Amino acid sequence: MDNDSAGAHDYEQARLYALRQLNLLDTPPSESFDRITRMASKFFGMPIAAVSLTDADRQWFKSRVGVEHWEIPRFKACCGEVADESAVLVVPDLLESPTYHDSVLAESGIRFYAGAPLQTQEGYTLGAMCVLDTQPREISAEEVAILQDMAAMVMAQIELQHAFGRIDPLTGLPNRSQFAEDLDDLGRDDPDKPRCALFTEVLDIEQVSILHRVMGPAYIDELARVAARGLQVALGKAQRLYCVGPCQFVHLVDGRGDAELIAIGLRLRETLLALQLIREAPILVHPVVGAAPLSLGKDSAVDVLRTAHSACQDARQTEAGAGVYSQALDASHRRRFTLLSDFRAALASADQLRLVYQPRVELSSRECIGAEALLRWRHPELGDISPAEFIPLIENTPLADPLTDWVMRRVVAQAQSWHRQGRTLAVSLNVSACNLDAPDFAERLLSRMAQAELPASAIEVELTETALFGQGRGAWQQLDRLIEAGIQIAIDDFGTGYSSLAYLQDIPAQIVKIDRSFIRRLDDLPRSRTLVEAMLSMAHNLGYRVVAEGVETQQTYDYLESLGCHEGQGYLMARPLEVGDFETWLTASGAWQRWNAASR
Ligand code: C2E
Ligand code: CA
Ligand code: CA
Repeated sequence: MDNDSAGAHDYEQARLYALRQLNLLDTPPSESFDRITRMASKFFGMPIAAVSLTDADRQWFKSRVGVEHWEIPRFKACCGEVADESAVLVVPDLLESPTYHDSVLAESGIRFYAGAPLQTQEGYTLGAMCVLDTQPREISAEEVAILQDMAAMVMAQIELQHAFGRIDPLTGLPNRSQFAEDLDDLGRDDPDKPRCALFTEVLDIEQVSILHRVMGPAYIDELARVAARGLQVALGKAQRLYCVGPCQFVHLVDGRGDAELIAIGLRLRETLLALQLIREAPILVHPVVGAAPLSLGKDSAVDVLRTAHSACQDARQTEAGAGVYSQALDASHRRRFTLLSDFRAALASADQLRLVYQPRVELSSRECIGAEALLRWRHPELGDISPAEFIPLIENTPLADPLTDWVMRRVVAQAQSWHRQGRTLAVSLNVSACNLDAPDFAERLLSRMAQAELPASAIEVELTETALFGQGRGAWQQLDRLIEAGIQIAIDDFGTGYSSLAYLQDIPAQIVKIDRSFIRRLDDLPRSRTLVEAMLSMAHNLGYRVVAEGVETQQTYDYLESLGCHEGQGYLMARPLEVGDFETWLTASGAWQRWNAASR
């Protein structure tokens, strides 16, 4: 190919791409185009008029008057020449024309042709607005100008239709669909160039809803418009800003380091905060900017928007104002989301959840007098999930109650089974603060225990300090009801919450479980020893039974025993065990206990 034809080839490729982007080819007829072709045919007094689009090898008619078929071959079609030359073409008599005398058109009886180019703003000619006659004719310069006006009307219609659904009507900014399309284009033009998406969120969803309620929807609309204008001015006209959601904007910048991205984000945030409407808003508006690096041509618009928005939310949570996407943070959010959404299925499934039991041993007698029920979750894809990970997620969701209910049923059944075997163990049930919000919580436990013919001593309830103190009257009523029925309440993880010994006297509990973080360090930290000694003597004086959690060494065991600590729980005695293993351990521990007693 010589230079000229190589250039022509490139132009034709770009032209075809522009045409296909408009999604016009082979679409059904539409009145908005037919109106123009009817007008053209009438005005010029010619039987045929058409909006003709030049595809790779055919002329396709988006609208036509006076012809039956939808397309003709491009070869020797007059409209094809208009597309190639991007200029008006008038052929007064096809039979006289050296090019067209033997064309398909001439053979079908057409003598006259006039076509004006349908040209996009970027300068690509998509085809022609044309009028045809079966008679040879002349056309005046004035008439040519009118044909060009009609071509411009067709183009306006095409561009309007294309823009529809790509422009945010409120801000006039290109929207999410346009963002997706532009990202595609960039991926094609400049695949290897590093870029970043900057996501600016003026208000979070909660603020939107508050403002909506307080000020009405018009206020949010105005805020979006003002923010859009403010951002566009700050970015400059050349920078394309997209509106991708209510008060959410995105733009692309060339790739650069985190510090620089954050600096840009913070500047944009300042711009927004300086806007009068935002300064005077009835609530504090906290705009945040999140940046996400992206690989053009690889990351989809959906991914880019998601990661950039995730950076935004992290920035909001850390009150940083601006932040860069972190894969690790995002993965942990996604994991949390997965766990949360999969837990309902776990509750319904037969084999994902189970309880294990950890022995509670009376230190002086070495006898196992109880067991703590601990929940285990084997996720079908993610494997074993620690309760320390999923329980805090589930607490404060509507699933917290079904969770505890699930545990409660099994704990009651297990306690019943042990009692029937003649093992009078006290089984500890872990309860979350929010469980006490259910007004029937205590009754549910008591009536199930009654049905299982269990004495009050068969089950103990463990609650953390925070659970005991952060609650309203309803929660205290639940506890009072349990205590009234003779159920023992334990303060779990003692020492990690309010960390004040003075409030102990106000708590309606009988047992204190010293958190394992204090017990763990007993062997080598004198300070821990002082703390544990103080906790123990205080708890003793107030009449509590004290359980030490996390007893891992014999030294710790002996030390706690010497201080008069009542019970211990920990890996030294046993890890949390499956029911069968627990029962085996119990039998064996009888032997352990006898051996221990003899060895003293
Ligand atoms: P927790 O109530 O403090 O339970 C004691 C935790 O300490 C258990 O962790 C147990 O395996 C662990 N542990 C026991 N002895 C030792 C030891 O000697 N060394 C060490 N390093 N750890 C020891 P687990 O089973 O992972 O449970 C974690 C937490 O999840 C529990 O802490 C409890 O807060 C919560 N949880 C477990 N099951 C339930 C449940 O059924 N309901 C509720 N609401 N929470 C539960
Ligand atoms: Ca516990
Ligand atoms: Ca604990």
